[in-house]
Amino acid sequence: MKRVYNFSAGPSMLPQEVLEKAAAEILDFNGTGQSVMEMSHRSKAYKPIIDKTEALLRELMNIPANYKVLFLQGGASLQFAMIPLNLKKKGKAAYIDTGVWSGKALKEAKKWIEVDVVASSKDKTYNYIPKVDKVTGDYDYVHVTSNNTIFGTLMNTFPDTAGIPLVCDASSNILSEPMDVSKFGIIYAGAQKNLGPAGVTVVIIREDLIRGPEHPQGDLPADLATMLRYDTHAAEGSMYNTPPCYSIYVMGLVLEFVKKMGGVPAMAKLNGEKAAVLYDYLDSSSFFKATVAKEFRSIMNIPFVTTITDAEKAEAINKKFVAEAEAAGFVNLAGHRLVGGMRASIYNAMPIDGVKALVEFMKAFEKNNA
Ligand SMILES: *Cc1c(COP(=O)(O)O)cnc(C)c1O
Repeated sequence: MKRVYNFSAGPSMLPQEVLEKAAAEILDFNGTGQSVMEMSHRSKAYKPIIDKTEALLRELMNIPANYKVLFLQGGASLQFAMIPLNLKKKGKAAYIDTGVWSGKALKEAKKWIEVDVVASSKDKTYNYIPKVDKVTGDYDYVHVTSNNTIFGTLMNTFPDTAGIPLVCDASSNILSEPMDVSKFGIIYAGAQKNLGPAGVTVVIIREDLIRGPEHPQGDLPADLATMLRYDTHAAEGSMYNTPPCYSIYVMGLVLEFVKKMGGVPAMAKLNGEKAAVLYDYLDSSSFFKATVAKEFRSIMNIPFVTTITDAEKAEAINKKFVAEAEAAGFVNLAGHRLVGGMRASIYNAMPIDGVKALVEFMKAFEKNNA
């Protein structure tokens, strides 16, 4: 069997021990004689699986008791719609535009709510995080993206919103470092970057934001589809309809792995070390360079380019690098078309040895091509 080092931005690599455990249990989960894929979601066998996944996430992220954890479908992208649909009261929301995903979120939101883009880094192809200390105004919520998967920037500090619910898309850095959940109204994330396989989306939502008939602010519009209401899923423990059962199970295995590694603070330390291995090399190389200035750098997604100034030559070298890397067992290193160059996504599951091996490969490539 051959396993490669997979630097994909998502879906991305899973810890090997998680895949081994899933493989060992695939025909007969825990003496039930069934695969988790075959189980009724309402069965006695399945209930402990979803309960364990939720309990582990609560423990690892220190989620306060007044927050619900929902396991939904439709990806982070459906949350771009569900957020305005469920939080709209006065009719206006503030968005900080830090990349493609925040752009998609605010574009979708505009279908239902008036959007104020209170800050944007679009002017410099999103290679920095605009400084926003405070957001005030008559807003139903303030939306931010904590880690910009495509541009490789990280929001280190969040604006003071003076009581306005802060909503955060944490798809590409949830569990990468500690987050104070109590500062947020909603944190949401598609699973396929740092939590597990595609198919499940986690929504961590403060209970007072879940509107229904009993809510002090009144019920949601009567024509809002049942599946698009947070209260539907909150009332039924994510079991209003069939949840993505198997993805939730594998996510539980990933969370066990994170716990075994020492929890989120230990992952953060390791992630910092992993990122430093690559950034230190990029900063010292005269052939490759990082595209993001030090203070805004993501520790999950690291875009880089060569220092070749001739665009055609650079493009040819990028292609050569990606092809040779793939042949050497380092896959999915092509950059996003908007940034060009290369990108290494090094989520929790990427071992430090994978990053060290990549840097050795890059050094050899530099020597042969500089
Ligand atoms: C990948 C990604 C998304 C889109 O997630 P889907 O689950 O595919 O809808 C949204 N936001 C961020 C920050 C992402 O990295």
